[in-house]
Amino acid sequence: MQLLDGIKLAREIKSEIKDIVAESVNQGKRPPHLAAVLVGNDGASQTYVKNKIKDCEQVGFKSSLVVLPNTVSQTELLEEIEKLNNTKDLDGFIVQLPLPKQIDQELVIEAIDPKKDVDGFHPANFGKMALDMSTFLPATPFGILEMLERYQIPTKGKHTVIIGRSRIVGRPMSILMGRKDFPGNSTVTLTHSHTENLAEYTQHADIVITALGVPGFLKADMIKEGAVVIDVGITRVDDDSEKGYKLVGDVDFDNIKEKASWLTPVPGGVGPMTRAMLLKNTLLAYKRNLK
Ligand code: NAD
Repeated sequence: MQLLDGIKLAREIKSEIKDIVAESVNQGKRPPHLAAVLVGNDGASQTYVKNKIKDCEQVGFKSSLVVLPNTVSQTELLEEIEKLNNTKDLDGFIVQLPLPKQIDQELVIEAIDPKKDVDGFHPANFGKMALDMSTFLPATPFGILEMLERYQIPTKGKHTVIIGRSRIVGRPMSILMGRKDFPGNSTVTLTHSHTENLAEYTQHADIVITALGVPGFLKADMIKEGAVVIDVGITRVDDDSEKGYKLVGDVDFDNIKEKASWLTPVPGGVGPMTRAMLLKNTLLAYKRNLK
């Protein structure tokens, strides 16, 4: 088995972005600018946003953070989004999910100007993605494509089985793996919690992508010899470490590693790629804005 090293790739991608930004700034242009909206005090969300801001600093982007209390009303949040939509020289922004119960997530996503929707969650951008038009791809599926491309993993004519049909990972991934491009041109099966005899699909897959959030779900007897396995799952599991938890994926790594040809670790696989792709989307928004 060979590792698909997300940390190494993300470092390379960030270095490429940093060079592009430096060149642009040297020519007297402003740097790209990304904003994040963080609602409430969920620990995982705070960590994700902190990391996104750190990534911006590393590549020379300007970043802004809007922090709102857990009690924020729908109207107040929508007003904040409208402000960001109208902020000049702000290339893109993200609203960190999940949102508190009183907020309608759909309304929030639809309120974001699709030109600034660097998460690629707005229905207009999702539609463009489905039609193979240039747009912001959701960061996690985008990161997986980038990983397959940079490692030159063949996908044409292969059978790709995806587990999980979320709007941010499984479903867009299924569309992208079936598109007429590389990576893509796969025959795709999208499985989920209502799929019967799931192992019958995964056992015949050349590529398995797990995005369900169930630690150790994919076992060695569920894949065929030489399969490519991409583990998107990230679950916090309590342990005795200083942090009090560790991050685990959906794949039974120790057993699957004997059988898979390529495998992503957790942590250090898809996660860093997702972060790098948010920067790539912001750079795309910036280039469009400067035109
Ligand atoms: P989600 O939690 O919204 O949905 C889970 C999906 O898995 C559903 O479609 C459900 O049908 C399916 N599912 C659940 N149990 C199943 C089972 N037993 N058999 C088959 N299908 C089953 O999904 P999400 O937001 O895509 O998150 C999935 C996992 O990926 C989580 O662990 C999350 O933390 C992680 N994640 C990681 C990244 C990253 O950058 N690495 C990004 C996003 C999500």
